[in-house]
Amino acid sequence: MAEHGAASSSIPVAHPRKSVSRRRLRVCHECDLLLALPSLHPGEKADCPRCGHTLVRRHANPAERSLALAIATLITLTLSVAFPFISFDISGIGNRIELTETASTLIGMHQPLVALSVLLTVIVLPAIYLLSLTWLCLGLLLRHPLPHSRQLARTLRHVTPWMMADVFVIGTLVSLIKIIGMAHIELGLSFWSFCAYALLLLLTTQSVDRDWLWFSLDKEPRAPAGASIGLAASEQGLSGCHTCGLVNRLPESGKGRCQRCHEPLHPYRAGNQVTLALLVASVVMYLPANLYPIMITTSLGDTTPSTILGGVLLFIREGDFPIAMIIFVASVLVPVSKMLALLWLCYVVRRQQRPLGRLSRIRLYRITEFIGRWSMVDVFVVAILVALIRNGSIMSIEPGAGALAFTSVVVLTMLAAMMFDPRSIWQGAAPSEHADLSSTGPQRPPKESSHV
Ligand SMILES: [Zn+2]
Ligand SMILES: [Zn+2]
Repeated sequence: MAEHGAASSSIPVAHPRKSVSRRRLRVCHECDLLLALPSLHPGEKADCPRCGHTLVRRHANPAERSLALAIATLITLTLSVAFPFISFDISGIGNRIELTETASTLIGMHQPLVALSVLLTVIVLPAIYLLSLTWLCLGLLLRHPLPHSRQLARTLRHVTPWMMADVFVIGTLVSLIKIIGMAHIELGLSFWSFCAYALLLLLTTQSVDRDWLWFSLDKEPRAPAGASIGLAASEQGLSGCHTCGLVNRLPESGKGRCQRCHEPLHPYRAGNQVTLALLVASVVMYLPANLYPIMITTSLGDTTPSTILGGVLLFIREGDFPIAMIIFVASVLVPVSKMLALLWLCYVVRRQQRPLGRLSRIRLYRITEFIGRWSMVDVFVVAILVALIRNGSIMSIEPGAGALAFTSVVVLTMLAAMMFDPRSIWQGAAPSEHADLSSTGPQRPPKESSHV
């Protein structure tokens, strides 16, 4: 019997053992392989030996670490909202904005949905995340989970991909470069605390060890009996919970909830129809996003609507090549290549074709999932410029219809990537089709799978 265990870059791989605790089982969410977690020490992580997906990452003093980071991030968020964000001066006419005005000005200009997306991604969702995490960690440190801890732990996973403070920082820098030639700019205390907030938020999300969190909240029931390690979970009627990681047996109907966290399970369904539908919707929305102006500038009575590509060309004409490049990459290259990559992945998976190896395809999928949120840069640039330069006697900037269309493209492509099932890439793959044998040291692909 050979155990097909999760390997780590820093710990020895699992060696053949007679039996494996059913409490150590995990399903790789990307390639669907059923694995046994090795015991991990702080600073170690367990990667799937087949596709390289990180299953678990352990930290020293996880509750204290996450609590300290969450509180520090909440403090910087409070400072970011409480003080002036940017002040500027054009020909003696000054203006000063606070962070929340980047959203509230858009509401006044009949763009409530764009305003809502800015407010949610930059302030509201991160605040919900940080408060939930603080509440959870406090309960765990007191060795008695506080009320509603389980519900809050469930929300963490859903909120994480929609927090975009880091993207907003880039949007602010692009906006500042755009107006630096025409105005005297002063960065407020809020701007600097916002930069710290974006960095700390990133560190906070990376500090959360969900595996440890759910074990501390609710222990871990045994995985179903008869599970074969080293085989695809879906072929055994099993499913790994995407929220808490517990391996569950799927009911006959295919629909079920995790017995520990009660989140819906994700049975494997071939086809990726939802992804395709969302991609079609995003392609449709990408046309008005480019045809309608994203921003309308009025300067000394002259009204100039500018589309996304028009903005890029304007920066090139003015010699701002790095900014032209940022806007082009974020607003044109990223959404278009993301849509094409996902469409291509859906196509090859449906046709069971094999151009590129599975590992290359899974890497392509990971890239599309990672880069999608960075397209919000252009939406944030519009929000910041509109708030800064509004109703000025010399100059004013208003959002155009393209802003809403482009926001919906970003949201739809992000949803399309989330709904794509990476397990479809690995359908029909041999259990021993390893991604990277070199990281697994002396381990050999198992000749037979082990039952637990
Ligand atoms: Zn995997
Ligand atoms: Zn669960």
